[in-house]
Amino acid sequence: MNNLQLSNQDLEHIWHPCTQMKDHEFLPIIPVKKAHGVYLEDFEGNSYIDAISSWWVNLFGHTNEYINSKIKEQLDNLEHVILAGFTHEPIIRLSKRLVDLTPKGLNRCFYADNGSSAIEVALKMSYHAHKNSGRERTLFVSLKNSYHGETIGALSVGDVELYKETYEPLLISSIQTEVPKDQSKQAALKAAEKFEELCERRAGEISALIVEPLVQGAGSMHMYHPDFLLHVSFTCKKYGIHLIADEVMVGFGRTGSMFACEQAGISPDFIVLSKGLTGGYLPLSVVLTTDDIYNVFYCDYSEYKAFLHSHSYTGNALACAAANATLDIFEKDDVIENNKKTAAYMYEKLQKFSELEIVENIRQTGMICAFDLKGFTPQQRIGLKVYQHGLDNGVLLRPLGSTIYFMPPYIITHEEIDKMFDVAYEAVSRL
Ligand code: PLP
Repeated sequence: MNNLQLSNQDLEHIWHPCTQMKDHEFLPIIPVKKAHGVYLEDFEGNSYIDAISSWWVNLFGHTNEYINSKIKEQLDNLEHVILAGFTHEPIIRLSKRLVDLTPKGLNRCFYADNGSSAIEVALKMSYHAHKNSGRERTLFVSLKNSYHGETIGALSVGDVELYKETYEPLLISSIQTEVPKDQSKQAALKAAEKFEELCERRAGEISALIVEPLVQGAGSMHMYHPDFLLHVSFTCKKYGIHLIADEVMVGFGRTGSMFACEQAGISPDFIVLSKGLTGGYLPLSVVLTTDDIYNVFYCDYSEYKAFLHSHSYTGNALACAAANATLDIFEKDDVIENNKKTAAYMYEKLQKFSELEIVENIRQTGMICAFDLKGFTPQQRIGLKVYQHGLDNGVLLRPLGSTIYFMPPYIITHEEIDKMFDVAYEAVSRL
């Protein structure tokens, strides 16, 4: 079978995510035969550098030998078991490790199987914790331009029009407060003051503030200073509002520290993890929270007090084995330090884009680099042109509108970084 035959078969039955399917009348679907390291390979032997870590999940490359071996080992013992009333060794080990790694005080792990579901868990748990404590707080606050997933609750607290607008009549109540306009300390302070003003007026209604710490992913890789987190964490504590840190994208070393919250020195009430948790192998997510939250659910049986939320594949054993293998790699190799060197190299390469007149707002946080293209309307679908040029030249770039970004697996070499940036540079120069 060649690429075209497989692509045609695919399009007979598969409805792809985040896609206007009619685009595939001119845009080929790429069937991937195998993958290794940063490379994806199709059925005609073309290879592509996965510059977006397959939707921001992959940390240590595709078909990583060590993670493969640990999943295979687990497969011979236990593939999956119901997590209600039963447990397994990989999840016990993983939970202890996550508690030790995350900011102090996050002592309880509640599992789900993807980022959006974990956001639903955090929202429901926050609301329910207030309710169990005799408070009715139905309002969630999030940041302008935020993205937290696409299930109804997660979409409700998001603020990217493209995903949200159509479903507006179905959503739960949320309001958006200012996000810092850039990476300066002044912008952080100004936005934090806006949140404080909001709390002065409406704190009694607000269940939680949910944020993407340091980088808003789907919101065009918008970046801000850690001081914002410090200020809003303080305000949340002052008004008894929960702080939910959505580290689905930024967790596990992406921003230069194991978790982005560390850079602000804060410990939120909830931290939500997924994507990199399994090194990009298997669907798994977790919400870590405090003993204080856990304890307001802990009492003699009453159907209204227990947190009766469940997913069939909650805490899947294979996914937990992949997560433990991922954490082993963090322990064995000095990943955070190595990433600093890789990020410094990416920084150097990124500066070249300032030569191009249509490029603005070049920015970086750890292993995430981005810039915007100015002067294009959304209808021009400029990102699609960059995407196509990338594929024709062996790099998977997936611009967000007119924002071009790079978020490669951590094992990318300098040579591969050169290629990734050179192809993007060519693509942008030709526009
Ligand atoms: N939260 C953030 C910050 C994300 O970037 C995403 C996905 O991109 C999600 C939540 C949703 O995760 P999932 O796609 O696994 O549902």
